[in-house]
Amino acid sequence: MLEKRAPKAPDARQLTNEWNLKVYAGVISGLMAFTVRPFPGLPSVGHAIVVFLYCAINLIFCFTNLEFNKPSNFAARFGWMSTGNIVLACFLGLKNTPLALFASFSYDGLNIFHQLVGYTAVAQMVFHAICYMKWEDMKNNWGKILEPENWEGVAAGFAMVVLMMGFLRRLGYEIFYISHIIGVILTLVFLGLHRPYWVWKICIASLFAACIWAIDRAIRAWRLIFNFVDNRATLQALPNGGVKLISSKQLAWASPGSHCFVWIPGIRPFETHPFTIVSNTSSGLELIMKSHSGFTKSAYNYAVSNPGASLRVSFDGPYGSFPDLARYDRIVLIAGGSGATFTFGLAATVLDSLGPDSTQFVDFIWAVKTKENLVWFSEQIAKLKTHASHVSLSLHVTSDTEGICSDETLVSDTEISPNIVSMAEITEKSDSDESPPSTDEKLQARPAKVNEMHTAHGVKYEKLRAEAMIGEAIQATKSDGRVLIASCGPETLMKAVSAAATRYMTPDGPSLDIHCESFGW
Ligand SMILES: Cc1cc2nc3c(=O)[nH]c(=O)nc-3n(C[C@H](O)[C@H](O)[C@H](O)COP(=O)(O)OP(=O)(O)OC[C@H]3O[C@@H](n4cnc5c(N)ncnc54)[C@H](O)[C@@H]3O)c2cc1C
Repeated sequence: MLEKRAPKAPDARQLTNEWNLKVYAGVISGLMAFTVRPFPGLPSVGHAIVVFLYCAINLIFCFTNLEFNKPSNFAARFGWMSTGNIVLACFLGLKNTPLALFASFSYDGLNIFHQLVGYTAVAQMVFHAICYMKWEDMKNNWGKILEPENWEGVAAGFAMVVLMMGFLRRLGYEIFYISHIIGVILTLVFLGLHRPYWVWKICIASLFAACIWAIDRAIRAWRLIFNFVDNRATLQALPNGGVKLISSKQLAWASPGSHCFVWIPGIRPFETHPFTIVSNTSSGLELIMKSHSGFTKSAYNYAVSNPGASLRVSFDGPYGSFPDLARYDRIVLIAGGSGATFTFGLAATVLDSLGPDSTQFVDFIWAVKTKENLVWFSEQIAKLKTHASHVSLSLHVTSDTEGICSDETLVSDTEISPNIVSMAEITEKSDSDESPPSTDEKLQARPAKVNEMHTAHGVKYEKLRAEAMIGEAIQATKSDGRVLIASCGPETLMKAVSAAATRYMTPDGPSLDIHCESFGW
């Protein structure tokens, strides 16, 4: 029989081990809290460190081992550095990035570095041109600049300036997009022609960049063609300019929370737009779009004028990465407005994978401006409510006031079109099997029913206090537990979330990870 031994009091060696472990945990959590902290102009201090290292490496490589009195040496070095950065910018701009195979990288997270590397390449190209002009001027040999290969270099330089126009993309996305594609092709072609000798390796670099870019485009085109076969989508107008898209086919390998590019040739034949996947089951893929002034506005108008009609659709995706949700004991999901497509997607992934003994818990926090926006995700809200033992739901309406329904919105919605799904209708669908009421009856019933539904879901009419809510969730987790805070929405919300989360990263508390998703790059 085994004898039970009383545990020994810790000796000096054990105490040192414990102390070492505490110091180690303190350093790691301190470092993590520091790197995820917001940084002016960049998403985090971690990003700022990478940017600093990248700039330092570039400066070192640009200015070491040079004869400082010869402008031609500077010119050649800047030319080489610019070429290297063009290849790197192409690599970082790939939608199907090979980095995703090795770590949880996604093109959207890398885009900020793609932009930085692109701007650096343009700056180095400008210095390259200035130094060569200075050199030829010193030799009084301006004719050299007009020689064919140098003209091709000048053309590559102008094409790179077109690429730099990316910073204007918010003014007109389609113009930016087309100019970027033309700019890439012209840059790589003229760069190769600028120094077309294999021995100088510049054309090898441009050929390599052209190949990875073309392979990426080919993968995307193939996906769009493949997913186009037998695929149709119905569009349903939602209040406040929302549109729900449901496709007839499931998108392979796509989990809710990831995103895909949507192509609806019947609405905009030459455009694809990224949207986050809310659900993806055998009955189809579901997206929720907030309408702006381009494709989304046309999709909304189509849904209003053609209720129940279906259109041919295709998807390129899935894209995006987020942490492995199964690793966390508690998942705090915080969204603002249409950012909820991401958090509802993640919540669905967690709930669908819950085992019978699972103790995982989700804090679902969502803020919207008006009550009517809650309708966009009424089915998802209902699903969360059926998992009450695993989910705490906190819905905030920040612009409306309690008891006052946004009547103006309701009336104007109905005047524009009776085809917009309202919260009242959703409530009616679940409440009764009777014949549907007339539009007038609906209009009268709406404010009361909308309010009823809000009361049922415990909607709060107050600002979202991210810090306090994150604090409550963390305090409710065991100190050896793991917490994920995932957020999507306006920049101000995400900054507040990461600032709040870093405050709770302590060696004595649960381990904490943050993931912020944004709808732009
Ligand atoms: C990864 C990701 C996921 C997204 N998920 C959702 C979602 O689930 N629901 C949702 O409502 N919105 C989502 N968006 C935003 C959505 O893609 C844009 O609102 C939509 O493309 C605007 O189309 P538009 O022609 O109506 O825009 P416009 O009225 O022309 O412009 C509105 C804004 O959208 C930007 N935009 C326009 N076209 C694109 C494009 N092709 N790619 C990126 N940005 C563009 C413009 O720069 C501008 O800032 C997501 C964006 C990204 C990057």
